[in-house]
Amino acid sequence: MSASAKKNYRPETRLVQSGTLRSPFGETSEALFLTQGYVYDTAAQAEARFKGDDPGYQYSRFANPTVDMFERRMAAFEGAEAARATATGMAAVTLSLVGQLKAGDHVVAAKAMFGSCRYVVEDYLPRFGVASTLVDGCNLDAWREAVRPNTKTFFLETPTNPALEVIDIAAVAEIAHDAGATLIVDNVFATPLFQSPLALGADCVVYSATKHIDGQGRCLGGVILGSQKFIMDKIHVLIRQTGPSMSPFNAWVLLKGLETLAVRVRRQTDSAATLAVAIAGHPKISRLIYPGRPDHPQAAIVQKQMRGGSTLVAFEIKGGKRGAFRFQDALRLIRISNNLGDAKSLVTHPATTTHQRLTPAQRAELGISDGLVRVSVGLEHPDDIVDDVLAALEAV
Ligand SMILES: *Cc1c(COP(=O)(O)O)cnc(C)c1O
Repeated sequence: MSASAKKNYRPETRLVQSGTLRSPFGETSEALFLTQGYVYDTAAQAEARFKGDDPGYQYSRFANPTVDMFERRMAAFEGAEAARATATGMAAVTLSLVGQLKAGDHVVAAKAMFGSCRYVVEDYLPRFGVASTLVDGCNLDAWREAVRPNTKTFFLETPTNPALEVIDIAAVAEIAHDAGATLIVDNVFATPLFQSPLALGADCVVYSATKHIDGQGRCLGGVILGSQKFIMDKIHVLIRQTGPSMSPFNAWVLLKGLETLAVRVRRQTDSAATLAVAIAGHPKISRLIYPGRPDHPQAAIVQKQMRGGSTLVAFEIKGGKRGAFRFQDALRLIRISNNLGDAKSLVTHPATTTHQRLTPAQRAELGISDGLVRVSVGLEHPDDIVDDVLAALEAV
């Protein structure tokens, strides 16, 4: 096996070349090692490998060459020392928390987050004696005030789902570190292309690879990135012993997804910006949220910490749920689905789907009104996407 690509290439180059482990066959494309186990030449070699004295693979729950290639490419892309892949994004989020916590600890998290992440922090961790406090992530005083002597970690997502709020990562990292806590950032919406949480002070970054990393709606997956020490101390053994490992097949699909990520995400972001311009001020829309526009509520933070906008556009249709449903049903090209980051443009109504579990008051706090829709802009021609949205708005 030979590893290729040095660290100092630009992100686009690393996405294509980094982390490749070429077998003696000299294949051009990354090989799919669809194997559970590995054979040893001698009994002594098996013993040495289990003792850690002989480098090499033992069992694909622990490590697999295709999964390794995906982890190495992600680490190179993010600029992280180490990465571990997981079966889903939620496995990555859950492990990043559980790996650092024990009964008696406390977590502070921004309340605007992906529905299942909120479940883990608010409902699941407390069952094991880990208390949690949810705060308005944009209010730095709220983070400070939530700190307790036993606070171990902060968790946030930015831009947030679905209202695309942007939280100041560097400022929250400083508050976490002053409190002796770590900061985990769910960077799904921005991708490593547009935002580098580790460079801004975060200790751990997590992804649902299901979104932009696959980018073509095929496989579930997740990744946890951080320093070598963080990954080895908090994550590595936990994955090895509890088994939320990524399948080699999914790793192969996601590895190939990374090759085209920069091209896709830039194009989808340009199209999303075009859509935002086309619908700004539309009489059927009461509010438009797009990171990168000067009217975004945290425009200054977007400027400071992001290198690009978003592949998502959120907007509030006049007429509440009825208006939002009419709009979605009138779309012809953009399909109704809760997924995002796909090559196909998708629309979702958070209040009745992803955030249905929350009370109306909790939704209101997060800016999720009954009229809010979120469009994940795909790779279709931007004019066709804009035409579809404008025609559907006419029908409202
Ligand atoms: C989708 C998503 C997750 C969960 O990922 P899965 O791969 O669906 O388990 C977590 N956080 C954010 C921000 C997401 O969009």
